[in-house]
Amino acid sequence: MTNTATENAPATTSDLPVVAHWIDGAERVGTSGRTAPVFDPARGVPTKLVPLANGTEIEAAIASAKAAFPAWRDLSIAKRQTIIFKFRELLNARKGEMAEIITSEHGKVLSDALGEISRGQEVVEFACGIPHLLKGDYSENVSTGVDVYSTRQALGVVGIISPFNFPAMVPMWFFPLALAAGNTVILKPSEKDPSAAIWMAKLLKEAGLPDGVFTVLHGDKESVDGLLEHPDVKAISFVGSTPIAQYVYETGTRNGKRIQALGGAKNHMLVLPDADLDLVADSAINAGFGSAGERCMAISVIVAVEPVADDLIAKIVSRMKTLTVGDGRRSCDMGPLVTEVHRDKVASYIDIAAEDGATIVVDGRGVEIDGDPNGFWLGPTLIDALPTTSRAYIDEIFGPVLSVVRVPSYEDGVEIINSGAFGNGTAIFTNDGGAARRFQNEIEVGMIGINVPIPVPVSYFSFGGWKNSLFGDTKAHGVEGVHFFTRGKAITSRWLDPSHGGINLGFPQNG
Ligand code: NAD
Repeated sequence: MTNTATENAPATTSDLPVVAHWIDGAERVGTSGRTAPVFDPARGVPTKLVPLANGTEIEAAIASAKAAFPAWRDLSIAKRQTIIFKFRELLNARKGEMAEIITSEHGKVLSDALGEISRGQEVVEFACGIPHLLKGDYSENVSTGVDVYSTRQALGVVGIISPFNFPAMVPMWFFPLALAAGNTVILKPSEKDPSAAIWMAKLLKEAGLPDGVFTVLHGDKESVDGLLEHPDVKAISFVGSTPIAQYVYETGTRNGKRIQALGGAKNHMLVLPDADLDLVADSAINAGFGSAGERCMAISVIVAVEPVADDLIAKIVSRMKTLTVGDGRRSCDMGPLVTEVHRDKVASYIDIAAEDGATIVVDGRGVEIDGDPNGFWLGPTLIDALPTTSRAYIDEIFGPVLSVVRVPSYEDGVEIINSGAFGNGTAIFTNDGGAARRFQNEIEVGMIGINVPIPVPVSYFSFGGWKNSLFGDTKAHGVEGVHFFTRGKAITSRWLDPSHGGINLGFPQNG
């Protein structure tokens, strides 16, 4: 299959529409003179340009967010809650519009785009409960005539830097809570699919959000560094690949900021011999090939405790034959990869696995597609007997490539999973409750599924991995998300009464 993106490209990209920044409650044309192309991955052509902000634009965005902060912070909780609630209503009514935008820039099928919006909407709904989430504690008469109480207050301007694979859900992991808590937000979306962010900014304005409270700044490393280094940005939530997550964490904390930086993943599914292999096969297909494997919670390795591997592989292969690959607007099961470069990188791992002695059971490079031949296609791929020393095992591939590693025992499986560098998600498939309970205790991973292949916690729990999958100690959304976007204050109060007075330089003691 030939896939040259340039074949269908216009003679010059300067005719393409340019996505705008969103600053001070309005679209702003980029002035840096730098842009990047945004592709329709199912057609393999650039359809837009995204501006890449320079220092002046970064400064203007931060100044606008800083100016908007005091009034937004001081708006009553009830009024902030009303705006978030209204945003939820608008989002729920019109999410189909955003799903189409996501499919046209990311490539994932429409139903999957709607699915990510719904998971993001859950966090909006959680943020509607902000009055309860911001409640402090109160202890009366801790010492004679003295009361102590605590509150949580907004930080100021906070940044969100998001990856290409969830252009709606990942920003929504953070901004609903950040806004509801009284912060102003600058979102730096992925330059690969920037338009969903602008769509959400317009919807927030329609919901009544004051100008300057939510900003979208498009860009690349220069924008990220601008946010990381600016003293007026108090915290940053980052999601992306591990090397950049580590860089963001180290640079941000060095600059005195609060940082949560979620990184890459390599998620394993441990299959015990007593598991229901039909359930396992369905789950492996869904979790391995959904969104073309471009999910941080995708299953990329099946660790099969023998003797199940042969039967399981046969069941997976028969299901793979039924999958349709094509344009996400055409009711296919799986869409293209996000860019040509990424598709080629993912495909290169199939060669690496073969060179390292693995068996390529199904090779997605020959896939038949329902769509434009110039799209960034790679079909579902299944690899058996992948050595754990191969780069195809060690690296995050982030594509529709599912590998099988065979092990003799549960203990060997756990050892393999725990020896990996990542710790985002994992799943065990078994009918043995004792084994599942042992697994949840022994496994060194942040999110565990028991007969559930993609264990993304609901919004009122927190999302985040261990090891190289999360830098920082606070996860996304849930109570940890509320804590990340607020800081606590404890107030010790005494109202004067006739018993006060007297000088005492000793450390205050209760009495
Ligand atoms: P990426 O790291 O390339 O980009 C993420 C963000 O960082 C983007 O906004 C990008 O503009 C910016 N960026 C890129 N290079 C940079 C640099 N050198 N300096 C500063 N900023 C830079 O990631 P991606 O390819 O967009 O997304 C896929 C990755 O994200 C995968 O590794 C995936 O596992 C990970 N991810 C993790 C989670 C999670 O919850 N742990 C969720 C979604 C995606």
